[in-house]
Amino acid sequence: MGQVRQPHNLWNRRCQFCGVLLLTGELHGSFCYGEQGNYAHAVAELPPLPAETQWLGSQLNISFLSTKLNLLFSFAAMETTE
Ligand SMILES: [Zn+2]
Repeated sequence: MGQVRQPHNLWNRRCQFCGVLLLTGELHGSFCYGEQGNYAHAVAELPPLPAETQWLGSQLNISFLSTKLNLLFSFAAMETTE
């Protein structure tokens, strides 16, 4: 039985346009949304979040509460669509 060859992919370079880490074989700017990337203007900038959402995101325990909040928002969304 032959040996399985281990892949030698590395995240050892950064995109020259946006600075994201590139995997072996990925090209600079190929999927890039940075200023000079191929898709720089493909997506419109999102509007700022509502003040309530910004406040919620800035709370120190937001990560701890994320599962509860996710359930809360999911059940609230189901109530509004059915
Ligand atoms: Zn890039």
